[in-house]
Amino acid sequence: MAELSKEILIHRSDIAKRVQELADEISRDYAGNEILMVGVLKGAFIFMADLVRAISTPCHTDFIRAASYGAGSESSGHIVITKNVELAIEGRDVLIVEDIVDTGLTLRHIVDTLSLRNPKSIKVCAFLDKRKRRKVPFEADYVGFTMDDGFIVGYGLDYSEQYRFFPDVYVIQTRVD
Ligand code: 5GP
Repeated sequence: MAELSKEILIHRSDIAKRVQELADEISRDYAGNEILMVGVLKGAFIFMADLVRAISTPCHTDFIRAASYGAGSESSGHIVITKNVELAIEGRDVLIVEDIVDTGLTLRHIVDTLSLRNPKSIKVCAFLDKRKRRKVPFEADYVGFTMDDGFIVGYGLDYSEQYRFFPDVYVIQTRVD
């Protein structure tokens, strides 16, 4: 049975501090340019809302959604884009904003797919990175926090659509009764 950890893993004050640090780094890197920020639905919506307001570089925003088909909660490797970016990408500086990089399969597919539309540049900013769980090589350009393992919820991340609205980040623990 899955239950929520009682202790907060990442407190909202640490999230706010880290988001501002990321935003400052991104603003410096893109100074004088305009960003096309692409949020990966649904999990990135809160992170992206905070990030876009903390960045001083002008941003246009759009969203993409991908589904992973297969058994269980892990990515199967068969990724399908179910909602694509609607704004023009060609010649733009695209910054993909994702909640979490786990196996890397979803972002590998999204980056490869959007690259076909000839952006000027394409980078990835992930709120969380579970580096040890990669099935394909993938490096995000900006990472909020690095995790070892565990299933994370809160700050936009869900467990069966629950807990997305939590302002802090928790771990789901699997209890064996
Ligand atoms: P990947 O394709 O990198 O394995 O998985 C990326 C997607 O899996 C994330 O966008 C997220 O939706 C989901 N995911 C991976 N790990 C977690 C986690 O710890 N918590 C939640 N809520 N979703 C996760």
